[in-house]
Amino acid sequence: MAYIEPAPIKDKENPLESMMERFNIAAEKLGLSDEVYNVLKNPAKQVIVSLPITMDNGKIQVFEGIRVIHSNILGPAKGGIRFAPDVHLDEVRALAAWMTWKCAVVDIPYGGAKGGVRCNPREMSKGEIERLVRAYTMAMIDVFGPDKDIPAPDMGTGPREMAWLMDEYSKAHGMTIQAVVTGKPLVLGGSLGRTEATGRGVMVSALAAMQKLKINPFSATCAVQGFGNVGSWAAQLLEERGLKIVAISDHTGAFYNAAGINVQEAIKHKEAHSGTLEGFTGGDRMENPGDLLTMEVDVLVPAAMEDVITVANADKIRAKLIVEGANGPTSAKADAILNEKGIMAVPDILANAGGVTVSYFEWVQNRLGYKWTADRVNRRSDRIMKDAFDTVYAAAVKYEVPMRIAAYIVAIDKVAKTYSFRGGF
Ligand code: NAD
Repeated sequence: MAYIEPAPIKDKENPLESMMERFNIAAEKLGLSDEVYNVLKNPAKQVIVSLPITMDNGKIQVFEGIRVIHSNILGPAKGGIRFAPDVHLDEVRALAAWMTWKCAVVDIPYGGAKGGVRCNPREMSKGEIERLVRAYTMAMIDVFGPDKDIPAPDMGTGPREMAWLMDEYSKAHGMTIQAVVTGKPLVLGGSLGRTEATGRGVMVSALAAMQKLKINPFSATCAVQGFGNVGSWAAQLLEERGLKIVAISDHTGAFYNAAGINVQEAIKHKEAHSGTLEGFTGGDRMENPGDLLTMEVDVLVPAAMEDVITVANADKIRAKLIVEGANGPTSAKADAILNEKGIMAVPDILANAGGVTVSYFEWVQNRLGYKWTADRVNRRSDRIMKDAFDTVYAAAVKYEVPMRIAAYIVAIDKVAKTYSFRGGF
């Protein structure tokens, strides 16, 4: 499964604005000055290019390519490249800002960026996609760079595209420069431990939160929505640490077993059934898969898609703790309901930041010219995730706010302080 650099997905109840809504609350709590607020609100750089590509039928088609660097205050900008038919500047701007907060929360020395090309990769041949990636790279040759802006995969792109990007960038510089992009295939300088990194971070966040809530992992139950990369790894690692995974689901259905689902069996089933849980017999099939979200469990891990906890079901949620594996699973309006009910939600920008953390490790290893063992990667990412959790928790206590707003406070405070030390013009 292609690695996807963390990025928020549109909140249907309040598209893109939801990020700013939370940013604004945090900025107010922090007492951010208008000057700094305006600096952080606006992207540092926006580049739009036209990419003429020779299609397989011999005709030239022109695609629009975008790259937005929201901030490089903390370090080189970091963010994925999205190939999708509906890519547009506003969306890329919001996604870039979101990367700034995410990197700041886990305290990695990156700013935020995002890129996109408006195209439909499903309708393009491999050759057409390759030419498009190479053209986009050349058009952004002065934007990208290991010390300037480091792209990664996002929707519609994966390790294959990152390999082409690295190759094109390297050719233009007359030498191999692996650190210009992350999410590369392992043989091209990708990092061990990256596949499980996001699910692993979810596990670390869940255990840290359970400790605060005094939930004993060995008597705790857990439901996981989504059994892809993030969900299956989170389920497996949480099960290994004592939790009973009583329900899992994917787009084909949800399964419940009060005695605990055998996660290894479920993974084996998935591998043997084109990546789905269809026909899984290790649990009872739930009539309404959406009921998984409102089950009485200690821990709920939404790890499938955006906007699954909304005003429509938030008041029915019975979990004590929500750990957001997916990006944007909780709508801004549902936040208020969960807070009212006293349910702790470890927000996406913290809980699923294990992925970008190991992306950072890939860049570090490329620059060192040295490969870390999976064990070293895991230990270091666990430490970063745990430290980030503790910092956000402390901010939640200090400012008397929910974990989500606390995560924004931590991020904005860090960027704002760095900005005030560095200074403007
Ligand atoms: P994936 O494609 O590997 O898995 C998605 C899973 O969700 C699949 O099992 C799919 O069947 C399931 N699903 C789809 N619709 C569903 C539905 N209606 N009900 C229940 N399950 C459904 O994707 P992934 O990489 O695991 O990503 C999952 C989420 O985590 C996304 O929001 C993604 O943006 C986010 N995320 C992923 C990473 C990463 O490293 N992969 C990092 C950060 C955030």
